[in-house]
Amino acid sequence: MRNAASSARTAPAYAELRVGGFVPFSATDFPGALAAVVFCQGCPWRCGYCHNPHLIARSSAQGPAWADVLAWLDQRRGLLDAVVFSGGEPLAQPALADAMDAVRARGFRVGLHTGGAYPRRLARVLPRADWVGFDVKAPQADYAATTTVRASGAAAFMSLAHLSCSGVAHEVRTTVHPLLTSAEALLRLARELAQRGLRRWVLQRFRATGCADAALRAPHADILDDALLGRLAAEGPAVEVR
Ligand code: SF4
Repeated sequence: MRNAASSARTAPAYAELRVGGFVPFSATDFPGALAAVVFCQGCPWRCGYCHNPHLIARSSAQGPAWADVLAWLDQRRGLLDAVVFSGGEPLAQPALADAMDAVRARGFRVGLHTGGAYPRRLARVLPRADWVGFDVKAPQADYAATTTVRASGAAAFMSLAHLSCSGVAHEVRTTVHPLLTSAEALLRLARELAQRGLRRWVLQRFRATGCADAALRAPHADILDDALLGRLAAEGPAVEVR
C-alpha cells in the first residue's frame, strides 16, 4: 500500500501545468456556468472505479500544452463563464495555483474538482476558487479500500474541513459502487458528514465508462433503493442521486 505523503515528496517538479485532456465547453462541470474543463495529469491515489485511469501517471500527459490552452482562452473571453480544473488530482501539480491565477486574470471564474489528497495545498488555493466539487469516497476509516493508499482518509477529511470553513461554494459527492461502498458504509459516511455540518450530499451511481477494472465493470445490483435513501436522509444530509 502506498503513502500519499511519500508520493508527493518524490514527485518531479514541473514548472507548467501538465494537461491530460481538455473539454472546451461543458454545462455540467460548474453549476450554472458554461465552462471549459482542464483535466490535470497525475493522481496519488489508485481507485479501482477511476474513469480516467490514463490521468493517474504523473508523466505522459496527452493533452494540449498549457500555453495553448491559455491562448485558446484568450479567444473566448465573454463567450465562456468558467474554467474547471479536474483530473486526475489537480492539486498533485504545484503549478495549479499559478494556472488558477492565469485563468482568473483573464476574467473567468475558477472551478476545482478534487478528492482532497493534499489538504495544505487545497487550503492555499481555495481563495482562488469560485466553486469546488469535492469527492468523498468512503467513511474515513475505510478510505484505503478504495484508494489503496494509507492515510488517504485522514487527508480527505482534513481537506473537507478546510473546504467547509472556507466559505467557497461547493458540492460534496460520492461515487457508489456496491463492491467498494456498502449500504452500511454509506450510513456511516452519512453520519460522519452530518457531524461535520454538511447539508446536501450527491450520490453518483458508478458508471463503467473508462473503468479499467473488469470486476467492477461487471453488472451489479443497485443498492441505492428507496429504503436506503430514506435511511441516509434520516441520518445525514439531504441526498440527491445522479
Ligand atoms: S482520486 Fe479520482 S483521479 Fe485519482 S484514482 Fe481516484 S477516481 Fe481516479
